Amino acid sequence: MPGPYLISASILSSDFTRLGEQIQEAEHAGVDWIHVDIMDGHFVPNLSMGPVIVEACRRVTQLPLDVHMMVESPEILLPAFAQAGATNLTVHVETCPHLHRTVQIIHELGCKAGVVLNPSTPANLLEPILPLVDLVLVLSVNPGYAGQTFLPEVLPKISTLRRELDAVNPHAWLEVDGGINLQTLPLARDAGVNVFVAAHAIFNHHHGITAGVQQLRSLLPG
Ligand code: ZN
Repeated sequence: MPGPYLISASILSSDFTRLGEQIQEAEHAGVDWIHVDIMDGHFVPNLSMGPVIVEACRRVTQLPLDVHMMVESPEILLPAFAQAGATNLTVHVETCPHLHRTVQIIHELGCKAGVVLNPSTPANLLEPILPLVDLVLVLSVNPGYAGQTFLPEVLPKISTLRRELDAVNPHAWLEVDGGINLQTLPLARDAGVNVFVAAHAIFNHHHGITAGVQQLRSLLPG
């Protein structure tokens, strides 16, 4: 049961000189979550934001903050992000040899626990953890930069995860991140995704943030 459908606006493509205004415009346009991409320059070849930015987001919106941890040894940093106001903390299976323990830590911090797979990581690695998580995120680009092209090769993996979640944890969110726009959103939707991360399609839309959100929303039932 994929619905309801949510849009998670990734501030990676926002104008950081006007971050507060841009988040508020996205909120008024009807996005459901604010997605914050944390990159450490090790797990991914780029540096982005830290807990200070999450804390700044928390001050300008009541929306859930959907924090995607593209970092090595995330468990070291999780308390700081929880303290800063993260709602969801999503960790990469590739960085967590003790994934059950990491998920448990996230829950103990009072946050929703998400797990995420790189495009080349198979779905079956998540099988043992699926009943315990609040969210599964599938990356549809190789992580590190905004504005990359969606990899359609991930669609069969999304369908597999949708079937598995329906069987063991139907209330968990199935989210996709990377290259989501008017062309690719319907592909992910039809494969079973119900949370869509969008960065460029919202914050770099040539008619502005509100138009970007409205166009994406028009492709989602309800
Ligand atoms: Zn992300």
